[in-house]
Amino acid sequence: MKISFLGAARTVTGSKYLLEVAGKRLLIDCGLFQGRKELRLRNWRPPPIDASNLDAVILTHAHLDHSGYLPVLARSHYRGPVYCTGGTKDLCGILLPDSGYLMERDAEYANRKGFSKHHPALPLYTQREAEQSLRSLRVLEFDTELPLGDDLTVTLKPVGHILGAACVTIRHGKEKIVFSGDLGRPNTATMVDPVKIPEADYLVVESTYGDRLHSKANPEDELEKVINETVSRGGSVIIPSFAVGRAQTLLYHIHRLKQTDRIAGDLPVFLDSPMAINASEIFCKHHKIHKLSDKEARAACGVAHYVRHWEESKALDSSQMPMILISASGMATGGRILHHLKHFAPDRRNTILFAGFQAEGTRGDRIVRGETEVKIYGQMVPIRAEVQRLEMLSAHADQSEIMDWLGGFQSPPKQTFVTHGEEDASLTLAQKIREDLAWEAEVPKLGEARHLS
Ligand SMILES: [Zn+2]
Repeated sequence: MKISFLGAARTVTGSKYLLEVAGKRLLIDCGLFQGRKELRLRNWRPPPIDASNLDAVILTHAHLDHSGYLPVLARSHYRGPVYCTGGTKDLCGILLPDSGYLMERDAEYANRKGFSKHHPALPLYTQREAEQSLRSLRVLEFDTELPLGDDLTVTLKPVGHILGAACVTIRHGKEKIVFSGDLGRPNTATMVDPVKIPEADYLVVESTYGDRLHSKANPEDELEKVINETVSRGGSVIIPSFAVGRAQTLLYHIHRLKQTDRIAGDLPVFLDSPMAINASEIFCKHHKIHKLSDKEARAACGVAHYVRHWEESKALDSSQMPMILISASGMATGGRILHHLKHFAPDRRNTILFAGFQAEGTRGDRIVRGETEVKIYGQMVPIRAEVQRLEMLSAHADQSEIMDWLGGFQSPPKQTFVTHGEEDASLTLAQKIREDLAWEAEVPKLGEARHLS
C-alpha cells in the first residue's frame, strides 16, 4: 500500500489522495484548490496523476474542494467509475455545472475588462464539461462493501457534515485504511452524528478546526434574539448563507422558532438563491440520510418562499416590510446577496447575519471585522446595519469533537496522517493526538508519499 498526498496537505482545499494497493490505483476525492491565488494556480498544472491509469475514484462528499476537479480528470481521459453516495451524486449534479458556469463567466468578464494576462482568458472547465463528467458517478450507498477485485473493497459510512458525506474505508485482505472525509458534528439539529469506526491500520483525518473549539451556544436562542430585535426596530434580517447545508439548517431553525411562537408566525422568509432552492429539494428527497422525517424536512423548507427569478429577487429590495432574507454566497463574494447588501446594509434598522466561516480577505470577513464601508459592484457601500454572526452552525467537528471521534477506534492505527487544515491547525491536532492518545501522528506535506506496507 502506498499513499500520495496530492492536495489538502497543510492546507484546507484540493483534497486528493492517491492510494496504490493490490496493483490498483484509487483516487480518494478529486477536489479543487480554492482561496489564495498560489493555491488556485495549482488547478491549472498538469494533473498530478496519469488519469488514464486510474482504476477508480471515490468521493467523500460533494463540496467542490472534494469533487470540483472531476471535470479536469474527465477531460484528461479518465473513463472509470466515480463512486459516491446518492446524496453526493445529486449535490454534484448541481454544484459541478454551477462551478463550470461561474468559471466561464469569470473568464468572459476577464476578457471583457482585459485584466487577465492570458489572451483569451479561459475557464478551467466549462459547464458542459462539468455536465459530461457527471456521467461517471456511480452510487455506492452507505454501509455496503463494494468489491474492487483482488480482495480489495470500499465501504462508505455517514459522517454528518453535509448531505451524503461519508468516511471511506478501503480494505485489502486484513489491512484497512480509513479516510475521515470532512467530519461533521454530533448532536446537530439536521445532520446525522458521525459514525465511529472501530479499526484502521492507517488513518487520514481532517483538521479544519484542529486547533479550535466551537461556541456551545444554542443557535435557536441566538436566532430568536437577532430576529426579534431587528423586527422590533422595523428592520430586516439579511443572511448571507452557503447554499448547500447551511441554508437548509437555517430554514429548519426558523421553522422551529415560528412553530413555537418564539418569532412572529407571519414574518416573511425568502430563500433567494436558485442553488439553495435546488439543494433544499435534494435535502427533502434524501430524508433517510439526515435527522428529519420527510414531513419535517418539507415543513422546514416550506417556511420560506422560494425566489427563483432575478426580477423577483430585485423586487425584494423595494419591500418596506421586515423580513428574513437568506441568499448566497455565504461569504458575500458573489451572487444575489450582493445587491441585497447594497440595498439593506446602509440602514441601521437592518441586521446582516453571517451564518458561517468567513475566509480572510473576503467581503464577509471585512464586514465582520467592522469595516464601515465595502465595495460592491464598483461602488463603496456604507455598512450601518447591525452585524452579527452565528458561529455555532459550523458543519465541521472542532478539536474536541475530532478527538471524540478518534476515541471510537479500539486500537491505535499504526500511523495517522493529519490533513485538510491550515498548517497550524493540522500541527496542533497531530500533537494533541500524540500527547492525549499516544498514537503515531504526522502532518504530510503536499506531494509527499508514504509506503504503508
Ligand atoms: Zn466539506
